Amino acid sequence: MEAETRSVEMFFFPFMGGGHQIPMTDIARVFASHGATSTIIATPSSAPQIQNSITRDQQSGLPISIHTLPADIADTDMSAGPLVDSSALLEPLRQLLLRHRPDCIVIDMFHRWASDVVHHLGIPRIVFTGSGCFSLRVHDNIRNHVAVQNLSSDHEPFVVPNLPDRIQMTRSQLPVFLRNPSSLPGGVRPMKQIEENSFGSIINSFYELEPAYADLTKKGKKAWLVGPVSLSNRTAAEKTERGKPPTIDEQECLKWLNSKKPNSVLYVSFGSLARLPPEQLKEIAYGLEASEKSFIWVVGKIRTETLDGSENWVPEGFEERMKGSGKGLVLRGWAPQLLILEHDAVGGFMTHCGWNSTLEGLSSGVPMITWPLSAEQFSNEKLVTVVLRVGVEVGSREWVFGNDVWKEVVGRERVEVAVRKLMAESEEAEGMRTRVRDIAGKARRAVEEGGTSYADAEALIQELKALRFTSQY
Ligand code: UDP
Repeated sequence: MEAETRSVEMFFFPFMGGGHQIPMTDIARVFASHGATSTIIATPSSAPQIQNSITRDQQSGLPISIHTLPADIADTDMSAGPLVDSSALLEPLRQLLLRHRPDCIVIDMFHRWASDVVHHLGIPRIVFTGSGCFSLRVHDNIRNHVAVQNLSSDHEPFVVPNLPDRIQMTRSQLPVFLRNPSSLPGGVRPMKQIEENSFGSIINSFYELEPAYADLTKKGKKAWLVGPVSLSNRTAAEKTERGKPPTIDEQECLKWLNSKKPNSVLYVSFGSLARLPPEQLKEIAYGLEASEKSFIWVVGKIRTETLDGSENWVPEGFEERMKGSGKGLVLRGWAPQLLILEHDAVGGFMTHCGWNSTLEGLSSGVPMITWPLSAEQFSNEKLVTVVLRVGVEVGSREWVFGNDVWKEVVGRERVEVAVRKLMAESEEAEGMRTRVRDIAGKARRAVEEGGTSYADAEALIQELKALRFTSQY
């Protein structure tokens, strides 16, 4: 009897770094709000930020907490990427799981080594890949059905086979591990294995966004679509303090936005990991200025290799002009992205198409200028521009990884053209705005009681309860 009534205990093991740690923390919060006892496994360096995101939930009595492992990894800054080796956490994780046997552990796919440990302990393992259904299908179908090495050139378009929509890509837009599987240490096998031997996966998306792709995903293995999880941040404080402490004060940011007309501001950000070279930043600056539109631009990390120590990417007098005219707000560091995207003044988002940013743009009802750089971002671009038709492509053609050489600078003219096209009062732009607002409404309904994401979260909890009565999963 006790096994039926005791609340489900879920462990969450996020990968350190913005685009993975942030949504996994939100996922844990979502499940706590559905009554699951949620524990987020952290390291000494990731714990403070995660704690910051859950303190309000704890104060309101939600069953959520952190367990900090007595071990760390070298790079737990928001810049931690998929190649960071987190195996130092293996033994402390094993010890923790031996002491507490949760009903399941949700593991980020980038903890590639962790699947064996959990498997041997017989604890149901649920994978979090960080992507949506569309890009998962695109990548799987390319991996399984396209001989990319036989394409005549990096820029020869090919149609991704067996998809509900006609999606064209080029080899230059594919992650290096799809072009050359041996490029990841140990190959992609360990990451795929995490998925293959798992109980299923949790996906930060919602059914109505990509129904055909969600069906395909669910047909393969169990999958629960519980997003957009960013919508679990309801108050201004929750939206402001997500991820890192923002560089700009919440009030100052709102004051600037409040002074602008609805839909008149473009928000520009390339996420938490990307490092743009100075020559690319300069083209963005010129393009934004020439577009004559208002903007908030989060200048993230810069490739300093070619800098002489000064910030010499900035065009002469650019920041003074932008400040003086009130046209542009240039932020260095971390922006309160959700707060900005959900503000009425924001009418466009120039994004690198990281999945979280993409989903946050969609659920805020903001059309996008797509500028993919890495990971599965080129697939996300196709979802936005071809399937959903709520964005304009800037014309990025080259997948670039971490510190690799920047292959192609997108010129200022293309930046200006894309901004003008997206922020225009044209029929085309109005069509995009209408469609994306419709998506935003569906996103909100999905996470409310009676919605599909709400139902999927409940369903997983029920399945985990049922597992208590079987020795197999
Ligand atoms: N983010 C933010 N402020 C910033 C930069 C990023 O709040 O200045 C958040 C953003 O809202 C998103 C995450 O960091 O939730 C970035 O994830 P995404 O998948 O878009 O890109 P990644 O950083 O993994 O490349």
